[in-house]
Amino acid sequence: MSCLKDKVSIVTGSSRGLGRAIAKELAAHGSKVVVNYNQSKDAADELVAELKGDGVEAISVKANVAEEDECKALIEAAVKEFGGIDVLINNAGVNRDRTIRRMTGDEWREVIATDLSSIFYCTQAAVPSMTERGGGRIVNMASIVGQMGNLGQSNYSAAKAGIVGFTKSAAQELARFKISVVALCPGFIETEMVTNLTDEVKEALVAKIPLGRFGTPEEVARITRFLVTEGEYVTGAQININGGMYMQ
Ligand code: NAP
Repeated sequence: MSCLKDKVSIVTGSSRGLGRAIAKELAAHGSKVVVNYNQSKDAADELVAELKGDGVEAISVKANVAEEDECKALIEAAVKEFGGIDVLINNAGVNRDRTIRRMTGDEWREVIATDLSSIFYCTQAAVPSMTERGGGRIVNMASIVGQMGNLGQSNYSAAKAGIVGFTKSAAQELARFKISVVALCPGFIETEMVTNLTDEVKEALVAKIPLGRFGTPEEVARITRFLVTEGEYVTGAQININGGMYMQ
């Protein structure tokens, strides 16, 4: 898949943050793009308008990826508009941080549904089209927090560690259909998820990063695109993008 011309990519949660940067990067390399959003309709529509202005075929589709039916509808909308799917970036995610003693059942379930179950729903729905087209690429957005844990993030770290396990099983099951599946484990990247932290927390985090800074969404987007276009022999892997904060 060294060229994305005539390929179709879906990026879940691409109205903002990492997903937005990834959608732009894939589009810049020739892909048609499905921009998925849940709440940020204006931002998603604005991105689609920007991509179309650059001559890219793009649509925005509202779907809450925590819901199985909405994931199916998202994939169906992409197939209907563009005829099939080649690339699925399972990026959408939320955090609802609280210590285990204080976390509510709803906060636990929301994060597990949005960050982990969504990946099963979207992958299962997308595989038939990828198989029909002779292969595909699936990139799942995990996190450094799934590898090392973090105070107040038991729901998030469980979901992200679950993504790594899911990725390894999916890679084994789907290799015969020439579908590769990888997990990305970003460290702390400058999106609202991180810029919303207090200055004190941000300073403490940066002090733990050997490269001495947070990553940028564009840096994650370039690695994602590289795995899609050049990663035909990479599957079942977890790729760290963390400035050296955690080495495995
Ligand atoms: P962000 O800036 O908060 O953006 C989150 C994106 O996910 C938005 O586009 C949002 O869309 C979408 N989203 C949230 N809930 C959704 C739902 N139920 N259905 C569909 N879309 C939904 O976060 P980010 O930093 O870009 O994070 C993106 C992914 O990278 C997440 O999985 C996150 O866990 C992971 N990650 C981030 C970092 C980091 O440091 N930033 C590090 C490691 C991993 P709407 O606004 O339209 O709802």
